[in-house]
Amino acid sequence: PVDRSDEVQAARLRLPILAEEQQVMELINEQPIVIVAGETGSGKTTQLPQFLYEAGYAQHKMIGITEPRRVAAIAMSKRVAHEMNLPSSVVSYLIRFEGNVTPDTRIKFMTDGVLLKEIETDFLLSKYSVIVLDEAHERSVYTDILVGLLSRIVPLRQKRSTPLKLIIMSATLRVSDFTENTRLFKTPPPLIKVEARQFPVTVHFQKRTPDDYVAEAYRKTLKIHSQLPEGGILVFVTGQQEVNQLVRKLRRTFPYKPTGQQVNEIKEVKEQPAVEQQFELKRVMRNLRKSKKKFLAQISLPSINLDDYKLPGDDTEADMHSDLEEERDEADEEEEDELLDGLNEQPGTKQPLWVLPLYSLLSSEQQNRIFEPIPEGCRLCVVSTNVAETSLTIPHIKYVVDSGRQKTRLYDKLTGVSAFVVTYTSKASADQRAGRAGRVSAGHCYRLYSSAVYNDLFPEFSQPDIQQKPVDDLMLQMRCMGIDRVLHFPFPSPPDALQLQAAEQRLCVLGALESSSNSSSSSSTNEKDLPPAVTQLGRVISRFPVAPRYGKMLALSNQFQLLPYTVCLVAALSVQELLLETGVQRDDDVAPASNNFHKLRLSWANHGQYQLLGDPMVLMRAVGAAEYAHSQSKLDSFCATNGLRSKAIGEVRKLRVQLTNEINLNVSHVELCVDPQLKPPTETQARLLRQILLAGMGDQVARKVPLDEISDKEERRRLKYAYNCADMEQPAFLHVSSVLKQAKPEWIVYQEAYELQQGDGSKMFIRGITAIEPEWLLVYVPQ
Ligand code: ADP
Ligand code: MG
Repeated sequence: PVDRSDEVQAARLRLPILAEEQQVMELINEQPIVIVAGETGSGKTTQLPQFLYEAGYAQHKMIGITEPRRVAAIAMSKRVAHEMNLPSSVVSYLIRFEGNVTPDTRIKFMTDGVLLKEIETDFLLSKYSVIVLDEAHERSVYTDILVGLLSRIVPLRQKRSTPLKLIIMSATLRVSDFTENTRLFKTPPPLIKVEARQFPVTVHFQKRTPDDYVAEAYRKTLKIHSQLPEGGILVFVTGQQEVNQLVRKLRRTFPYKPTGQQVNEIKEVKEQPAVEQQFELKRVMRNLRKSKKKFLAQISLPSINLDDYKLPGDDTEADMHSDLEEERDEADEEEEDELLDGLNEQPGTKQPLWVLPLYSLLSSEQQNRIFEPIPEGCRLCVVSTNVAETSLTIPHIKYVVDSGRQKTRLYDKLTGVSAFVVTYTSKASADQRAGRAGRVSAGHCYRLYSSAVYNDLFPEFSQPDIQQKPVDDLMLQMRCMGIDRVLHFPFPSPPDALQLQAAEQRLCVLGALESSSNSSSSSSTNEKDLPPAVTQLGRVISRFPVAPRYGKMLALSNQFQLLPYTVCLVAALSVQELLLETGVQRDDDVAPASNNFHKLRLSWANHGQYQLLGDPMVLMRAVGAAEYAHSQSKLDSFCATNGLRSKAIGEVRKLRVQLTNEINLNVSHVELCVDPQLKPPTETQARLLRQILLAGMGDQVARKVPLDEISDKEERRRLKYAYNCADMEQPAFLHVSSVLKQAKPEWIVYQEAYELQQGDGSKMFIRGITAIEPEWLLVYVPQ
């Protein structure tokens, strides 16, 4: 029996899925595989695991739930533990770097990547009685693979009379890739729909589609806050930087000042909220009456359901929206801009706005603030990336401001070169975003784009990740599981054959798969379509929870006491955005980065082998110094003054521990530890580390563009920092932050190449530079 608090019980009863508990559980008890679809916020993620627990599924084995996002795995395990009044040792989570799983764990939230790793060592998932694949509509690479694998595991478990249940959960009804794919499931699994109590959301398109959607989002939020009644605002932009920029601007415009100095202002807000609101309402009503005529002319707008408005009396609220909707012509716009410029001093309301950022790289404490009570007298405003689309349900939202854009990382199928591009979202995503406004009452979604753009330029759905991303580690993992013909795997939607080939090729170059010159020439005649075998090295590589190229670097480092350095380096390279770029705008809640950082970088890699080791040397020193600062309990201030992202440093630390343990388990005679006072490598070690970097990145070698051979002066200047990379047509340029920008060595390896739009064209950049010697290529790069 579960002992829930009254408060929790009351909140649960409001969730639509609770009314369907019996029906859902009957279906799950009868069927091996069930698909559950229901609107975001209907209670799928928090309630279904509890239903399963109460139905006895946790008695002998565990209930496992996968999430594509780490944010969700942590947040949901905490929420469910809280609702069930159980400790985190029973309702736990496990993500790549951390977790709180214990032998007592009964309900386990994890990222989909973690479960895939578990299948590698326990193909039948014998510890679980049920697996719930959450957010399947997101179509993350790992979830797609898990669907394929589980389509085989479930029947196998049935044969052994220890049945495993599979539940696929989706926020959308677009599940035909799962239900209609007969290679995947011979008999289509039943679909159960949770009818959510979704209030009507009025969608407002903009007449035109501005390019500067962040400025437009600011303007719209300001108008909503100044003119419309209570209700949280959720703004969708594309990335962390935009989120922070907008958060800063909104906080400045509608400040909330909780500290002693501004007691007066707080008094004003706290003591007179009613008066304040009344005044607000009067002003709004006045405006309304003015625009009544216009409203009447627009009353035929689709899908406004006047019966659902909570304001007493009449149609006032709808009026206000029509006011907000006023079509603007050029003159209006100029006037408005002036108005807005003046608004920093004089916003249309004095009510403070409680503005919170939300994106996946944000620390979990900061992320959790969206669930905490809003300070009295404030209106909630969350500025988010698409994390808030389906994985986290933010409470109290009534207004959604949708930029209609998302940031996507696009990869070149052949070279693996990536570029971040901002594109329109899909219609499905836009509708999800709009839906966020209708959870508490009738809501409104302001789309910062025209209906024509929506109709003509938005794709219906976004493409599954597996058809867009490189699949190298996936390929190696599947091969190590004994899946030889990856091409024949029952993917819900198969990746491009070309992409699979490119991944196979790169794994051959790494030495993780037997390279074609060894195997196929000898056996090509009779076993033509058998793919190259996994090498011993490949098996070692796949044990490490990092990308194959980093796994290889670790595998090669068991000599000359290199392991502690490689572990440190690989941990740093595996975590995103460790170093804050100088001059980049940052979150208000973090102390500003020091401008000294660039100098510090140079001083960390300023001569001899250290310099040649280049940018990785800087990372290694940064991680080493942060570890030391941590041992002195000075980590936060160290990160702040040195421009390191402290959440990233935290992840690096955890990954270092994890890799160190993994190595101690798998390699005999090493007793590695995470040394808080790791000395810099010797000159010899630094030189060997350069070779190890090359061994991991043999496909990412570049040579300086020969400037002597160019006669045109202008062209020589243009190509001063240019390198020719393998497989790429246009030259790539050294990133400004590289410590090797002065030295410009002839031969280098780089960690990442990416493309940036500049003017009409685009320019290629490379970052994470290490100098190498051309002779090494013969040793470390096959072919
Ligand atoms: P779904 O998975 O169907 O989208 P969820 O189970 O995630 O729905 O959410 C159900 C409800 O629980 C939502 O109203 C959400 O706001 C609420 N909720 C989730 N996490 C928390 C939390 N940490 N604190 C308070 N409420 C929460
Ligand atoms: Mg959910």
